[in-house]
Amino acid sequence: MTEIDRTGDRAPVPADWTYAPAPESRDVVKLRERYGLFVGGRWIEPSETYETISPATEERLAVVGQASAADVDGAVTAAREAFANGWSSLPGSERAKYLFRIARILQERAREFAVLESLNGGKPIKESRDVDLPLAAAHFFYYAGWADKLEYAFPNRRPKPVGVAGQIIPWNFPLLMLAWKIAPALACGNTVVLKPAETTPLTALLFCDVLRQAELPAGVVNIVTGDGRTGAALVEHEGVDKIAFTGSTEVGKAIQRRLAGSGKKLTLELGGKAANIVFDDCALDQAVEGIVNGIYFNQGHVCCAGSRLFAQESIYEPLVDKLKRRLETLRVGDPLDKNTDVGAINSAMQLEKIQELVESGRAEGADIYQPPCRLPEKGYWFAPTVFTNVAQSYRIAQEEIFGPVLSVLTFRTPDEAVEKANNTPYGLSAGVWTEKGSRILWMAQQLRAGVVWANTYNRFDPTSPFGGYKESGFGREGGLHGLEPYLRFDE
Ligand code: NDP
Repeated sequence: MTEIDRTGDRAPVPADWTYAPAPESRDVVKLRERYGLFVGGRWIEPSETYETISPATEERLAVVGQASAADVDGAVTAAREAFANGWSSLPGSERAKYLFRIARILQERAREFAVLESLNGGKPIKESRDVDLPLAAAHFFYYAGWADKLEYAFPNRRPKPVGVAGQIIPWNFPLLMLAWKIAPALACGNTVVLKPAETTPLTALLFCDVLRQAELPAGVVNIVTGDGRTGAALVEHEGVDKIAFTGSTEVGKAIQRRLAGSGKKLTLELGGKAANIVFDDCALDQAVEGIVNGIYFNQGHVCCAGSRLFAQESIYEPLVDKLKRRLETLRVGDPLDKNTDVGAINSAMQLEKIQELVESGRAEGADIYQPPCRLPEKGYWFAPTVFTNVAQSYRIAQEEIFGPVLSVLTFRTPDEAVEKANNTPYGLSAGVWTEKGSRILWMAQQLRAGVVWANTYNRFDPTSPFGGYKESGFGREGGLHGLEPYLRFDE
């Protein structure tokens, strides 16, 4: 505990600001030894299994199914039957009731889901509790509201559901990505086969319990766990009408090639290398908080992370000084501790990728800064990192690191900032920090990015469309735009 100096006339002041541990209890989560595949409202025994672990401790959490092509076929068949046998013709107001129920149950069970998300994925509990869970519930609430208003959303276009949606999601926001995918699909009258990421299947499997509690008709949502082979089987299945994918650009391109000419609908939400641009007239301390949130939130495992900081030359030094001082206060460690700011890296593989890219940064000549912090011995960890003296051609300025690593670059004029920011194959997001409203609007028009945040970063809202340009993918999720990929408009 922090000692308080009570001697003398002054008001008591703590001798230091060390935080006492504040771990969240795991008791709220009742893990099963083994999970099957959720198909047609029932648990199916998979032919193959694998173990899922906690990346913070490498502790085994449960055995889960590795769905084969035959298992995927069973799930698509169940989804097709549920589509034909009532779900697609149910009035929108009835579908909305299920979505509202799911949203409310997620809120009621938020603590259980947040603890499990942190346990299986390594993210700090304060993020899963305050960001992932509220936003996941909000997505279901929001799309519940659209379910009976599709005719008004798309007047005179006779919107109809597409059919069976195959949805493949990554490990960085497991439950939130599930909500982004499932909520609009169901609101539009589709049925779903969803594949969670190999390393983070547990909240999706707990979600099956929510579906049962909400009495969603069997087969409307099917969940098949497994690695990339399961995802590929889902993409290749003839009975799937639409694929929604969030993940790496490489796999996204392979999926696009596979589906070309098939007539299946496709949306891709892929990687990014966002520019967070700080002008000399901004509120500097506020910008430092935005930079920290932009790149260290969720260990930097964020497709829209502000991984390239562009500092205007006139404020470069004070900005970097403040940033380094702020980094010293970040607490890295136990994801279940409520004080933790930066949790565990999601997997050994991801850690290796981060280490390799950081090594390339050093080798190419950038200066590295890491605050003094003791990393736990077990599990996968990486200290918050800032690179200065970075050239645009370095790999750390070009490639998505997907870890807590920031590359700092500089600019002199707004035109130069735009040119450098757009000098990337990606185009998912960007941040602008300035006091001038006119400059914000001008920058937002020039930046080739799906989302531009002004004087804030990493803000999400179900009413706002999200998606990219160029190699960051196509299609939008969220808002009214997020309905369109799940509808067809033919006569
Ligand atoms: P992937 O693109 O491999 O994973 C995304 C999802 O696709 C997972 O469910 C994955 O399964 C599945 N998948 C893998 N291969 C195939 C395939 N051939 N066909 C269909 N589905 C497939 O990303 P990684 O997890 O390998 O991460 C690699 C890099 O991608 C990261 O370092 C990061 O740079 C980037 N990334 C970007 C994300 C984003 O939100 N934009 C999210 C995640 C990663 P499985 O989990 O078993 O591999």
